[in-house]
Amino acid sequence: MYPFRTESTEAGCPKKIAIPDYFSLYNSSKRAITDNISSQFVYYLNLTSNHGKAGDCIECRQCEKACPQHLKIVEHLKDVSELFDNGRAYRQNNQLLPYVGYPRTLNAIRCLNEIIPE
Ligand code: SF4
Repeated sequence: MYPFRTESTEAGCPKKIAIPDYFSLYNSSKRAITDNISSQFVYYLNLTSNHGKAGDCIECRQCEKACPQHLKIVEHLKDVSELFDNGRAYRQNNQLLPYVGYPRTLNAIRCLNEIIPE
């Protein structure tokens, strides 16, 4: 889990990666008690309709040069990508979302988490 959220690092990203939001969703997902389907993933997926995915990073490091906190953003984005682009949440939610749409997916996630054992 990353104990930060930064606002200025998205500026200038050629892939329009929503870095602060992705880190925030990653942190929130890691704090969650369950490893089941997460609403954070649905928010992530929604953001990727207008932004690049974490895995789209081309490692140009423009964000790191602009980051006042000197964060290793490229490395952290790899963790975000592993969780949201390739992980269990991706497989489960990506199957669900096309059938029921975004708002209903959040409700469906809550219902599924109640009945699916960890
Ligand atoms: S290193 Fe990745 S996240 Fe940072 S500006 Fe370049 S493409 Fe965007």
